[in-house]
Amino acid sequence: MKYFLAIIGGGPAGYTAAEKASKQGKQVVLFEQNALGGTCLNVGCIPTKTLLYSAKQYYNAVHADKYGVKAEGVTFDYTKIAQRKNKVVRKLVAGIKQKLNNECCTVVTGVAEVVSRTDEQVIIACNGEQYEAENLLICTGSSNFVPPIPGVKDNEAVWDSTQALAAQTLPASMIIVGGGVIGMEFATLYHELGVPVTVIEAMPAILPNLDQDVVAILREKYEKAGIRIMTDTKVMSLDGNKVTAQPAEGDAITLEAEHILISVGRRANMQGLEALTDMEINRGIVVNDMMQTNLKNVYAAGDVTGKIMLAHVASRQAEVAVGHMLKRIPVQRIAYNAIPSVVYTNPEIASVGMLEKDLADIPHEVRKMPMTFSGRFVAENEGETGLCKMIVDTKHNTVLGVHMIGNPCSEFVAAASFAVRMGYTVEEFEQVVFPHPTVSEILKEIL
Ligand code: NAD
Repeated sequence: MKYFLAIIGGGPAGYTAAEKASKQGKQVVLFEQNALGGTCLNVGCIPTKTLLYSAKQYYNAVHADKYGVKAEGVTFDYTKIAQRKNKVVRKLVAGIKQKLNNECCTVVTGVAEVVSRTDEQVIIACNGEQYEAENLLICTGSSNFVPPIPGVKDNEAVWDSTQALAAQTLPASMIIVGGGVIGMEFATLYHELGVPVTVIEAMPAILPNLDQDVVAILREKYEKAGIRIMTDTKVMSLDGNKVTAQPAEGDAITLEAEHILISVGRRANMQGLEALTDMEINRGIVVNDMMQTNLKNVYAAGDVTGKIMLAHVASRQAEVAVGHMLKRIPVQRIAYNAIPSVVYTNPEIASVGMLEKDLADIPHEVRKMPMTFSGRFVAENEGETGLCKMIVDTKHNTVLGVHMIGNPCSEFVAAASFAVRMGYTVEEFEQVVFPHPTVSEILKEIL
């Protein structure tokens, strides 16, 4: 059979594309070497959030007295926490299987490799069989980057995020190299469960790609709580469980912990694509707004494009790619200016749109409001501070960006995304009614 579409990779990009195209009656074959769901479901977003939820339950119980509740002798069982995480993952993977269970969709478990390609067809090999398709969508994702720091390779004390998630017991202490999204989420997990944590970040700030007014609130809270955060500090070498780091000023220092988590970014997975010798690559597979590569009938979506490594970007990219293959009119594009992102620290950080530092050429106004202007926030966040920051284009009076810290801002950042995506003016956004009392009302208060 000649398939309409062959997809390599069954993560959020791959399974979304398979579902969308097969539901339109197109024959689809999807290849996945591991479990469906990709990094996000198996070794990324979902297991991390599940572990973080257990940690938050424990942390809140320990600190319940600030709400007038006495909880004595609170303990946790990490093995049980890890088992529950596995159960959640299994359940969601089964859900994806169910979604793809239609007569137009074939799922093949195995390592796929592109054999050859012309403008009319692509041949893929998997498990000793060959498959022919009109179109190829590459959704092979990304892997943890192993930095060329002496002592990192073949070091049993070193974990990447996948190993940290697989552990059945908690480390006694942890050094985290890289204070980005993965680093700060794991710092939250371990700290809330009582593990001493040190974060070493090469840049002058943790979470350097986020709004720094927001990040400063997190850093202050975490440092007060006892997380050691060293910025502007480069890790020079590892020797077993010892880390030698060089701060921008002063002498090198050596630190020690039971485990060292390396979270310094991820890189596109290009294995199995070697036959596509003419495909343009730059940090990832180069694609246009419709997710087309420079090769007719070859598309790419998700982390492998090296654009924004987020599951929700991957699934939207996949929708755009399938829309283009199906010649949908009007042509869909992905609105990269309105991609929300969340860091699941405690408090959470959520943002969408442009950063103040990128707006030098655009006339704008920055509005800031403490989260304590929300009644619901005050009721549920004893002793916590938070911030909502909105950036407004003063020429067009539209919302360019919103950056927040405070629970549960991840749950309503989508409202801000909507405003940015649709180019709402402040007056238009003001007409939206927000339920009271919710923390989301901060978006209305700040207008
Ligand atoms: P990242 O790019 O977010 O952070 C890596 C950090 O490591 C950077 O701050 C960088 O300056 C620092 N760094 C690099 N080399 C270093 C060194 N030698 N010593 C010290 N610091 C060093 O990457 P990540 O945290 O590994 O995450 C990978 C990807 O996964 C990101 O694109 C991220 O957005 C995504 N992710 C998203 C979520 C979420 O949406 N909540 C969660 C986890 C991961």
